[in-house]
Amino acid sequence: MSRLLFLAVIAAVVYWLLKSYRTKLPKDEDTSGQAEDMVRCVHCGVHLPIHESILAGGNYYCSVEHRRVHIDKPE
Ligand SMILES: [Zn+2]
Repeated sequence: MSRLLFLAVIAAVVYWLLKSYRTKLPKDEDTSGQAEDMVRCVHCGVHLPIHESILAGGNYYCSVEHRRVHIDKPE
């Protein structure tokens, strides 16, 4: 009897994993990839979503570190 319960739990876990795997992956690409504006870090040139960027002096940066380096040593 306990073995049957064990199998039921395994089946539920596998089902849950497949379900979360399926719904998660395509969703992330579709929504965040297209709906959001991409900006370019003026220091290293990497593209990143605007909400992850740091805006300073009209320029976008990928990180606080790059903002600091770029402002310290302008091109
Ligand atoms: Zn950068």
